[in-house]
Amino acid sequence: MGKRKRKISAKKFPLQRCLEFSHEGEYFDLKALFDKVNSEYFDDALKAYNITWGRRRKLPPKEYFVFGTIQEEDKIIRIHPLLDAPFVPTWFLEYVIYHEMLHAVVPEEIDEKGRRKVHTEEFYRRERLFHCFHRARRWEDENLERFLR
Ligand SMILES: [Zn+2]
Repeated sequence: MGKRKRKISAKKFPLQRCLEFSHEGEYFDLKALFDKVNSEYFDDALKAYNITWGRRRKLPPKEYFVFGTIQEEDKIIRIHPLLDAPFVPTWFLEYVIYHEMLHAVVPEEIDEKGRRKVHTEEFYRRERLFHCFHRARRWEDENLERFLR
């Protein structure tokens, strides 16, 4: 962090953009976890995706917490940097990664009002296949406050 704060006006090439990603945190290497989940649950089908820690913000969020996001166009999964902490169990981080990866393979649906729905019934069905799904959800409920202001 810190070295390249100023925005560069020149167009960036894909390779340079890649170098800005960082999957190695202080406690967890996201790439290693991603590869493990990819092979255990997706038959290595998501090799084209990158995973990175999101940018650290000055203040943690107040109301709700987004553990991870996936951007289909760029094939990037971002994980919230506050999860790079010693109290976070590895299996919880794997669950967050698994959830985002599922978005890449379970198609969204359009509901009767024309709204996009990404957490479909099929999505939830597949999400429950994660080996410690219930444990992970419980951990999330019990620890959410630690991530909020
Ligand atoms: Zn989701």
